[in-house]
Amino acid sequence: MNQAKAASMHSELELTRERKYAMPESVPWVVIVGGGFAGLAAAKALKKAAVRIILIDRTNHHLFQPLLYQVATAVLAPGQISSPIREILRRQKNTTVIMGEVTGVDKDQRCVFVKSPDRENVPVKYDYLILATGVRHSYFGHDQFEKFAPGLKSLANAVEIRNKVLRAFEQAETEEDVSRHRDLLTFVLIGGGPTGVEMAAAIAVLVRNSLRSEFRRIDPTSARIVLLDAAPRLLGSFSESLSQAAKKQLERLGVEVRPGHAADQIDEKGVIVAGERIASKTVIWTAGVAPSPAGKWLDAETDRAGRVRVQRDLRVPGNPEIFVIGDTASLDQDGKPLPGVAQVAMQQGRYVGKLIRRRIAGKNGQRPFRYFDKGNMAVVGKGFAVIQSGKLQMSGFLAWLAWAAVHLEFLAQPGLRISVFVQWIWTFVTGQRGSRLIVDHTRIEPAKSRPAMAASTAPSSQPPVTAVVSSK
Ligand SMILES: Cc1cc2nc3c(=O)[nH]c(=O)nc-3n(C[C@H](O)[C@H](O)[C@H](O)COP(=O)(O)OP(=O)(O)OC[C@H]3O[C@@H](n4cnc5c(N)ncnc54)[C@H](O)[C@@H]3O)c2cc1C
Repeated sequence: MNQAKAASMHSELELTRERKYAMPESVPWVVIVGGGFAGLAAAKALKKAAVRIILIDRTNHHLFQPLLYQVATAVLAPGQISSPIREILRRQKNTTVIMGEVTGVDKDQRCVFVKSPDRENVPVKYDYLILATGVRHSYFGHDQFEKFAPGLKSLANAVEIRNKVLRAFEQAETEEDVSRHRDLLTFVLIGGGPTGVEMAAAIAVLVRNSLRSEFRRIDPTSARIVLLDAAPRLLGSFSESLSQAAKKQLERLGVEVRPGHAADQIDEKGVIVAGERIASKTVIWTAGVAPSPAGKWLDAETDRAGRVRVQRDLRVPGNPEIFVIGDTASLDQDGKPLPGVAQVAMQQGRYVGKLIRRRIAGKNGQRPFRYFDKGNMAVVGKGFAVIQSGKLQMSGFLAWLAWAAVHLEFLAQPGLRISVFVQWIWTFVTGQRGSRLIVDHTRIEPAKSRPAMAASTAPSSQPPVTAVVSSK
């Protein structure tokens, strides 16, 4: 975009600001980048503050990532775990939501640069800046794996994985050559953290339960599910005994668990691990994550993983008006780095909101941020979860009930809670899934030209149909 267009866009934005907020110029601007757990919590904590907030996210929705695996395994539909950010904040009058991608920060001019489909480098000024841009996948330097092993981070990823898993069964059913069924019906997951464990168990339940009676040429229950992890045991953030309980449950579900095994190679034929090739058409990456480029934008100190090192009040050293929170931030507590989990992100968002509120009210001093760990949980198939909270360790059905209650509570909107609750009961009782569709967003049928007669007799009152389809 040329400079003139950027300038006119900027002044448009300024005009909108002035119209929307008949507030004195002295009222500070708080720009929040990211409408995930951390950014949304910060915005909500500033609801009653005398500030003007601009929340920028590259998507139009807040995503409940802990249930992404249920979209990828067809239990839930994408709309059941995500809500438009502007709908969530519709009653918050001091907040404007902008959909756009932040591409950089100018600390001297105090502005961020925003890119949208038809505009680039639009500056948005701030008095306080909160960066909460989360993480991306990391293939540990093997970016070539991504083409064959999609990761699970966004709704688009979840739908892509759902398509891949469901299509494998469809292809096997149409494939007459029985020798080709093996690689079509082998699913390999790489990474034995909570996401890998939850996904592997959910695929096992899908094939052994939901799909078992629907195919004629193949037996879905014969599908092979392999879970690899380079670490010596699964669920490294849980105790040894819970990790063992999860492993046993996975094996009961028919998952082949291989701790201590890293993937050496991933290609169109499958995975090579410790010299052995596992032929598979469906490989899923559930291993590493890398932070967003916030550290580069700020030219700030980062940890080994690339997360921005922040002070105990979550500010960036040397920049008292800039905060980095959630998965993008690196902070040690009691000698250990805080984990990249939703609770840390939400608590940090609330803390920063409160700190800015106090500062604007002329109150100085707030205790350093301290994470209150409510515990870890992971679900391992139908009716089984593991929970660790302080000294409490639990596995089995009761843990699963607690897991379900906590996840329902943290969904962003009451409507989603009801819809997910009903769907879970239905799936639990009948085994039927909520959204078992293969949706190929890249394939849009071209419109057929109609004969002139038919076109002229078509009802003229019918509005034109406009579809916006994005595979991102
Ligand atoms: C599959 C999966 C399962 C998980 N399960 C659990 C679980 O069970 N329990 C748990 O506690 N945690 C879980 N987590 C981790 C948890 O979701 C994260 O810790 C949490 O989302 C971090 O919140 P955040 O706000 O820092 O980042 P996010 O929630 O990732 O939000 C970041 C936001 O920033 C936006 N953004 C990024 N870059 C830009 C940019 N340049 N411009 C504009 N917007 C941008 C993104 O669109 C996104 O909305 C899971 C994560 C994944 C991926």
